[in-house]
Amino acid sequence: MKVLFVASECAPFVKTGGLADVVSALPKALKETGASVRVMIPAYPALASLVASGRELLREDDGFLGDLRITAASAEGLELLLVTAPHLYNRPGNPYLGPDGRDWPDNHLRFAALGRMAAIVARKGIGRGKSSWRPDVLHAHDWQAGLGPAFLRLGPPAAARTVTTIHNIAFQGLFGPEQLALLNLTPTEFHIEGLEYFGNISFLKAGLVWADRITTVSPTYARELLSPEFGMGFEGILGARAGDFTGILNGVDLDVWNPVADPALAANFGPNDLPERSANRRELLDRFGLDLGSNAPLFCVVSRLTRQKGLDMLLEVLPRLLARGAGLVLLGTGDGDLEAGFKAAAADSPTRIGVRIGYDESLSHLMQGGADCIVIPSRFEPCGLTQLYGLRYGCLPLVARVGGLADTVIDLNEAARAAGVATGFQFSPTTSTNLASAIDRCCDAFRDRELWEGMMRRAMRHPVGWDSSAEAYLALYSGLSAVPESGKCI
Ligand code: ADP
Repeated sequence: MKVLFVASECAPFVKTGGLADVVSALPKALKETGASVRVMIPAYPALASLVASGRELLREDDGFLGDLRITAASAEGLELLLVTAPHLYNRPGNPYLGPDGRDWPDNHLRFAALGRMAAIVARKGIGRGKSSWRPDVLHAHDWQAGLGPAFLRLGPPAAARTVTTIHNIAFQGLFGPEQLALLNLTPTEFHIEGLEYFGNISFLKAGLVWADRITTVSPTYARELLSPEFGMGFEGILGARAGDFTGILNGVDLDVWNPVADPALAANFGPNDLPERSANRRELLDRFGLDLGSNAPLFCVVSRLTRQKGLDMLLEVLPRLLARGAGLVLLGTGDGDLEAGFKAAAADSPTRIGVRIGYDESLSHLMQGGADCIVIPSRFEPCGLTQLYGLRYGCLPLVARVGGLADTVIDLNEAARAAGVATGFQFSPTTSTNLASAIDRCCDAFRDRELWEGMMRRAMRHPVGWDSSAEAYLALYSGLSAVPESGKCI
């Protein structure tokens, strides 16, 4: 099985969130099953040295999007196809935002170029002779890759099948209808059964309409997306394709997130040597300048600071957390109001609350390895990865019962306690009152060392790898061979 992954991010090269982790880890897991995967991403500046040492395999200039090339390179266990177009991608910082913090005004062109090259490689393949490679499946991730399946299906019949995965329905790739001609699309595609979405173009909708199959990143989120509350306007489109739509749970790269060998930790540990873990807690408290006794729980947050993540509710209940004698360390970046709110809270309680505004991969590992509990009070959460890292590192997740959080954490309720299966704390619905009660329950449980350490060991042994989900993707790809050659065409 040959699969072309198409995405805007891939760890460790370019990462703003969980998408990058998945686009990096899933190909490696698929490789274990015998599949051959190439990952197509834009050649941002962080990839310049790989472009310089790579092999140029393809060159296109369709007049609309300019000179586009594909450079092949191998790095970090991945086979990369880098879309090389300096006029579109050679910009520093965040892959989507300019220095003013707003979307780049030509994002429709930047990601149309990604879709265009994906469709070309899916149709014609790359390389020559023995090293030629043509994918059986084009797998588009999120709106940035959404035009890939559309361009492929709107051209002459092609053998490659298509899958689109929704990592977060909140990002829909909306652009004004005046961009239609610039994208080299015709008004035929611009209607309600095509890529028109309430008068705009939606790249995500293009990916959903023209893909043979649609997936999202957890079974619960797949069900939620069919409701107006979570579907964000796409519930009808997804409902119409419900037979082609499934949820497959994300996993964790067990080599990157491995407490037994993680170089970012002050001390490595596994479920059988939990006492070692306390050196990480001490290191974490030192780094944030906190003073917290070992009998008080240390909560942590590693997150984008946005409304989705519900951290405004955590701000609201901080007095309760402090009243219970607990501490908090937070690493994140995002909304100005949330950044200011947490910084002010840290200034008010400098020995109990520590805040780092920014992005720090290594510190995020230490936080999972040193804090007692990771708080994720999301209003919606397609899958969530930080609770999976928390499980693996014995940092018990305290989560809202939505999306993938509902699928991966077992709440310490009476039944789970009696059965000895709990791995964390859940609350529902997502309100600050329910969050505060969950924090209370967590603080109570923390006082019972035997209970807490039992939960830690169980959490650390909970399977969070990619094995079964990689098999599920492989089965999905294999099932596509039954789809007729002409695919779906409007
Ligand atoms: P989302 O994709 O919605 O941001 P996920 O939980 O799926 O949420 O993935 C977030 C990923 O980004 C995780 O790998 C998490 O550790 C990482 N992350 C988020 N914020 C930061 C930060 N400020 N510093 C380091 N890593 C971060």
